[in-house]
Amino acid sequence: MSVFESSNFANHESVHFFNDPASGLRSVIAVHSTRRGPAAGGTRLWQYVSDEAALLDVLNLSRAMSYKNAMADIPFGGGKAVILRPSGDFDREKLFTAYGKAVDSLGGKYCTAEDVGVGPDDMKAVRAQTRFVAGLTDGEAASGDPSPVTADGVFRGLHVAAEHALQTQSLKGLRVAVQGLGHVGYHLCYLLHKAGAKLWVADINQTVIDKAKDQFGAIAVSTDDIHSQDVDIFAPCALGGAINSDTIDEIKTKIVGGAANNQLATSELGSALKERGILYCPDYVINGGGIINVAAELSGSYDPKWVDGKLDGLKVTLAEIFNRAKQEHRPTNEIADEMAEDRIFGHHYSRAS
Ligand code: NAD
Repeated sequence: MSVFESSNFANHESVHFFNDPASGLRSVIAVHSTRRGPAAGGTRLWQYVSDEAALLDVLNLSRAMSYKNAMADIPFGGGKAVILRPSGDFDREKLFTAYGKAVDSLGGKYCTAEDVGVGPDDMKAVRAQTRFVAGLTDGEAASGDPSPVTADGVFRGLHVAAEHALQTQSLKGLRVAVQGLGHVGYHLCYLLHKAGAKLWVADINQTVIDKAKDQFGAIAVSTDDIHSQDVDIFAPCALGGAINSDTIDEIKTKIVGGAANNQLATSELGSALKERGILYCPDYVINGGGIINVAAELSGSYDPKWVDGKLDGLKVTLAEIFNRAKQEHRPTNEIADEMAEDRIFGHHYSRAS
């Protein structure tokens, strides 16, 4: 692929390739922007179909982290890393030890944490080589799994959305369809249930569904139908692309807001939601709680009050997006992109370009 001309490369400051045959490490670290601070974003361990697919993935993810971190108003730029999963058996500790050395060699330009396929034990091996890492379960500032904080941010964001789209300040009695009851989705159900919302849930894992039925009185629906429930809020908390050309016409809610990254299969679907009178909570804004938690850990002394203040900040940012979208008759995802670009670069890019 041509790298510098690729739209995915757009505005990246640097991309770093690491190769360590002894451990099997093949990794790409992309630094999109350090304008607001060191580039922060997780490390993904994945079996890619090609090196090109890995590069495209890391570039997209890294750029998205700049936008997310800017909107969360934390002193970090955006970056991301992928490790190409070695085929067959491999020594995990050796792999992440080599990876830790790679992160350290960037001298703090990039700070890492967990992403898909990577756990706290892996980060422990990374920590033995570098201090530019978070998501640890022990140590002075360790903050552990960020998922409950992500869920808290989504929960707070849904209050703002409910106020704008349903003219209510309370989620009590509202009907919410949650897609995916994993680390974030399940905790979101817990918070919604506690607030008096009624839950419709779907997951490919029957165990969590049974648990949600027992614990929250949730109504189980099939994974094919969760987006089309006749409820108030649709909360995508599984994989990306929940809003796509197949699902868009079937969504009946007034609000779409959840934890999943890349909820819109294409950015044009933001306009389609708007035309249908559906308020979309831009994913990288409403799901910023996890990176806020990671930022608190990276600061060296975890302060829950600071985290709480930043989570409330997400509410203010969402309200600004919703107000501007309403005044300018434009989709919320477009407004969010513009605001993020203003915060990162001091100006935004024309949508037409
Ligand atoms: P997770 O892997 O713990 O949970 C995902 C859940 O979705 C699992 O229970 C899985 O069985 C379920 N699922 C998969 N396919 C499904 C389908 N077709 N229909 C319904 N359910 C399905 O992941 P997580 O950490 O809870 O993250 C959820 C989403 O939020 C992801 O998109 C993630 O990138 C994003 N996110 C997570 C965090 C965080 O702090 N964990 C932060 C920001 C964004």
